[in-house]
Amino acid sequence: MEADNDIQTTPRGFHCKLCDVTIPNKPSLEDHVRGKKHEHLCRLRAKRKSQEENSVFVSGFRAATSRTELEEYFEHFGPVTEVIMDKERGVYAIVEFAEAGGTQSALTQLEHSLHGLKLRVKPRERKEFKLTGRGKHDPKKAQVGMGKLSYELCQAGSVNEQMQKVVETFQLSEGDRKARELLVQLLQEVFSEFLPDCQIIPFGSSVNTFGVHGCDLDLVLDLENTKAFQCRARTSDQTGEDRSEDGRSEDSILSDIDLASASAAELLDLVAAILRKCVPGVHKVQCVSTARLPLVKFNYRPLALQGDITINNRLAVRNTRFLQLCSALDSRVRPLVYTVRFWAKQKQLAGNPFGGGPLLNNYALTLLVVFYLQSVEPPVLPTVEKLRGMACEEEVCVIDGWDCTFPSQPFSVPPSKNTDDLCTLLFGFFRFYSKFDFPSVVVSLRETCALPIADFVGDEEMPDEPEGCVAKLRPSAGPKLGPVTILDPFELQHNVAGNLSERTHRSLRHELTEAEKYCRSLQFQRKSAKGKSWGLVRLFTPHGEAAAAACDAPYRHLEICIPFRAASLPDGHRTDPSEGGDACRTVWFGRLCSVVELVFRDVLKCTPVEGHARLDPSEAGQGATVEEAVEGQSVEGCSPQVSAHAGVKRPLSVDEGPSSSPQGKRQRLDPWAEHPESVHWSWAQTHPVWAGRRKVRKDLLKMSDEASQPEGGSSTLESRVTQHIMEKQANPRDLLEFSVDGTVVGVGESMKAVIKFCPTNDVSGHFQDFFHFLESFLPKMVETMLAKLE
Ligand code: ATP
Ligand code: MG
Repeated sequence: MEADNDIQTTPRGFHCKLCDVTIPNKPSLEDHVRGKKHEHLCRLRAKRKSQEENSVFVSGFRAATSRTELEEYFEHFGPVTEVIMDKERGVYAIVEFAEAGGTQSALTQLEHSLHGLKLRVKPRERKEFKLTGRGKHDPKKAQVGMGKLSYELCQAGSVNEQMQKVVETFQLSEGDRKARELLVQLLQEVFSEFLPDCQIIPFGSSVNTFGVHGCDLDLVLDLENTKAFQCRARTSDQTGEDRSEDGRSEDSILSDIDLASASAAELLDLVAAILRKCVPGVHKVQCVSTARLPLVKFNYRPLALQGDITINNRLAVRNTRFLQLCSALDSRVRPLVYTVRFWAKQKQLAGNPFGGGPLLNNYALTLLVVFYLQSVEPPVLPTVEKLRGMACEEEVCVIDGWDCTFPSQPFSVPPSKNTDDLCTLLFGFFRFYSKFDFPSVVVSLRETCALPIADFVGDEEMPDEPEGCVAKLRPSAGPKLGPVTILDPFELQHNVAGNLSERTHRSLRHELTEAEKYCRSLQFQRKSAKGKSWGLVRLFTPHGEAAAAACDAPYRHLEICIPFRAASLPDGHRTDPSEGGDACRTVWFGRLCSVVELVFRDVLKCTPVEGHARLDPSEAGQGATVEEAVEGQSVEGCSPQVSAHAGVKRPLSVDEGPSSSPQGKRQRLDPWAEHPESVHWSWAQTHPVWAGRRKVRKDLLKMSDEASQPEGGSSTLESRVTQHIMEKQANPRDLLEFSVDGTVVGVGESMKAVIKFCPTNDVSGHFQDFFHFLESFLPKMVETMLAKLE
């Protein structure tokens, strides 16, 4: 039934709404409906439908609630297959049951509550299944989160690796490229119906090897052959011969327009009409006849991308081939271009979102990188003149009178003798341009050096004619000079940075100087041992964002909040915190710190590392273990030895170090001694103690015949779970090191402890998993242990 609803009859045959394709006739329709794609989408739709029916929408829980807590709560209604949390704000979740029964039971229950808060549980909203959704192409998903990128870059071992990571992160995926190719094919088919022998040719970032997710699709509609076709068709009409050699007739559109004499505006209208009427999925078609090269803009809904069509723009196709060649000549070109492009975007130097604008465009920026690579000693890339000399006769290419000759294959060009690594080249790029006197020279990729601007003064391009006309050049015109002049490598009258404002030029110089300064620092070249931002991460600090804020950027999100609970105060202090004031605050935070330390030290068996917040050496060795502190003796009354001096970071001496301490020499708890408002620890973990805990816990409980306990139910049980996991792996290795910083914020009832985490050594990339586990484990464990603390 649903399948019938998918098919619509249209003037051009049929349209399958599910697959978003047009089908010309009934036999093809039958084939389509029986085809793999249609069947796959039907199955997928049925699956999504049942997932929706088996899920509920939950809100009202507190922000720190974990996925596991929700899962445990909803398992009372039926087996839960998945809990999808709203990642950004943690205000809602979708809980999916294995069967519809779970949904019904959950929805039938009138009231739900978790951690004392009332939950709202509603049926999940039904969404119409669309091919154009997430599965196919989601630009939002494609947008790379800066937090994630920073984290990944910090994990890399060198700037070289970071630059490779930038390429991997941003480059067009195979699927992306394929989808673009299919769109080009579709356009080729449609346009050929109306404009025989025309060619749709992609250029720009979709094909020049520097494309990023969601970049626009630049296309040329080449009508040269169509003009010839029209000419032949008209001649044969006049002579009364057969209409054309290949039997095709001049289509109705062609009979309305003379391609040889049509104005740019007329051609654009024609292209726009074909796009609007005949290409399914195209919308927002708009002619821009005032641009230097008039074009038609459009959006293509199924791929959520923006496209541009220019007419007969062969120079652009050729300069795209040139960039492809540069990229193929040396593997350092791509990482350098991607890195510089992203840097420029972050600094708001490049990227005019709507085409025109005062910033550099990506083409101009890429030419700056190529020019620098031609200028280093020894050069990484040859100049355009040198490349011309390496081409053979068949490769000679002249477009609109401009010599665009270069070899078609990279093997015609001898490899570069330059052996600099990427980090050196990037530093070199900033050094080169920070000293570059842009206003007095012209960047020309044809020669080895920048040309004095004085040679060009007097030859300038005429001012643009009024809107609506395409600007014409005087026959002897030179480039339009500006604060930055970058000559196109082929169209030598054209300054590709002619749109740059004086203000952009000033920002460019400023950012180049800043980048050069930063590249000289150790922070750029050396990975931080303390987990601070380094290398490209700081280079990519967005324009206007304080360097200090950017410093912690990759780890900003790695924090866990533990809200204040009066119940966790000792009897004498159990007053309203707004009345108890500072005393209440420090007592609560002190107790919390002790417990947090116990969780890491005794429950999760982490070892303190150098710089760990430390106890006074004179009093070492009198400590309480977790069992003593929490499940037996009171910690109150312990003499004030500090386990967590606020912000204390001093190296351990061998005598002090826990690694050198005898087993019994444990740190003692001192939550109250210094009334800390903040605390710092550094820990190391040698085993993946977060993995498989649930199963180990279950097995241990079975063996000991104890009643079932949820995660975090008992600190003794949890430390046994850890012990068990550690024993299973005989050869521990340095898995990860991390620092933990706690502070108390807020007042009264809204007081909370904010615990921030930062991986300081995470070679094998386990920290994210560990942190993910801590998000649910730590608050629960702390809560349980605080409740037992006397
Ligand atoms: P992106 O689309 O990701 O910004 P891109 O490499 O496609 O990057 P565009 O600025 O869209 O860069 O340019 C696409 C193509 O248009 C270039 O490859 C070049 O052929 C041509 N082009 C762009 N700007 C100019 C210019 N100022 N002068 C000459 N040709 C240009
Ligand atoms: Mg483009």
